[in-house]
Amino acid sequence: MNKKAVVIGGGFGGLSTAALLARDGWIVTLVEKNAQLGGRARYWKKDGFTFDMGPSWYLMPEVFEHYFTHFEKKREDYYDLSPIDPYYKVYFEGGETAELTPRFEENQKLFESFEKGGGKALKAYMEQSSYKYDVAMGDFLYREYKHIGQFFNRRLMTEGLRLGVLGKLDTFVSNYVKDYRAKQILEYAMVFLGTDPAQAPAIYSIMTHVDLNLGVFFPQKGMAGVAEGFASLCRELGVELITDAEVLKVLTEGNRAVGVETNKGTFKADVVVSSADYHHSDTNLLETKHRTYSDSYWEKRVVAPSMFIAYLGIGRELKGFEHHNLYFAKDWDKHFDAIFKNPGWPQNPCFYLSCISKTDS
Ligand SMILES: Cc1cc2nc3c(=O)[nH]c(=O)nc-3n(C[C@H](O)[C@H](O)[C@H](O)COP(=O)(O)OP(=O)(O)OC[C@H]3O[C@@H](n4cnc5c(N)ncnc54)[C@H](O)[C@@H]3O)c2cc1C
Repeated sequence: MNKKAVVIGGGFGGLSTAALLARDGWIVTLVEKNAQLGGRARYWKKDGFTFDMGPSWYLMPEVFEHYFTHFEKKREDYYDLSPIDPYYKVYFEGGETAELTPRFEENQKLFESFEKGGGKALKAYMEQSSYKYDVAMGDFLYREYKHIGQFFNRRLMTEGLRLGVLGKLDTFVSNYVKDYRAKQILEYAMVFLGTDPAQAPAIYSIMTHVDLNLGVFFPQKGMAGVAEGFASLCRELGVELITDAEVLKVLTEGNRAVGVETNKGTFKADVVVSSADYHHSDTNLLETKHRTYSDSYWEKRVVAPSMFIAYLGIGRELKGFEHHNLYFAKDWDKHFDAIFKNPGWPQNPCFYLSCISKTDS
């Protein structure tokens, strides 16, 4: 096959799409506007410090292992992983701390210390969380969706309620635990996903299986090392990776995309895949007549909020921190209200401190 594909964006999405197309015989060019590949998972070097700029939690390792099997490769051919113990440390308002570890009995004891029956409740919560995860992965994730009807398969129709697609996470968690500390541990992932536990569907309870059962890992050379691994695989498969190349426009003929115009010239292709943000691709890269949605549609969407990030290079060791540290304000609802209901700067914000030099100097 001599067909050409252009992939827009060099994050995990673009790099993996490019690799899969190349494996299937396409001649692939990937164009990335930044000087570095990795997208949100790129790094920043300054004064001897190296920062992962975006993601820092390496979760669901099996998904990455599965990805490399598509190429008859192994993840460890590209980067190494270190297990993290404790998985994370929580700082509750007032100074109390708790550590969540790979040892389930310790986590159960912790929940029991919060409230009577908490240990048993955690076990029951984990069982439903694992069940939902298995269904989500087995029946939904690795499938092609061409229309919404395909999402409603038999399993969802018969077990929709049990899967928690309809209920809300906060209400669901309250059926298991009442103590605010226990609830915060079971709901904290929503802070990262950019949603409010009171509004998020209960199926997000799978996140507790993801961190407490599947484990938390850290890749050597950070998350940027993972992106570099994805990029190496692309190179081996012959993908041309072009950085500092911003796509200004998707070129079309009739209703077909036939290439892209960039600040580094024009690239013709039989197929164009954009892995840049959907809103950007639809509104900035396509001519109005080819857009999927109108401006008024986009204006009505609620997008996940931005976050404030400080990259701190400190020339001495700080004691008391673990790799992942989470600070939770006691009035958790106020925090979420300040983000979602009455947007403003939260007075007592929940925050996350990533101290990766604990694992990788
Ligand atoms: C601060 C932060 C923390 C996060 N923490 C975690 C975490 O701990 N664990 C986790 O699993 N996930 C985390 N995530 C989410 C994760 O980083 C993203 O889901 C993932 O990196 C997205 O990859 P992507 O390829 O879809 O998009 P991106 O990484 O955004 O890649 C899109 C690429 O397209 C490029 N692009 C855009 N427009 C153009 C154009 N016109 N021309 C050329 N190139 C263009 C961009 O520069 C970018 O490189 C976090 C995200 C952020 C922002």
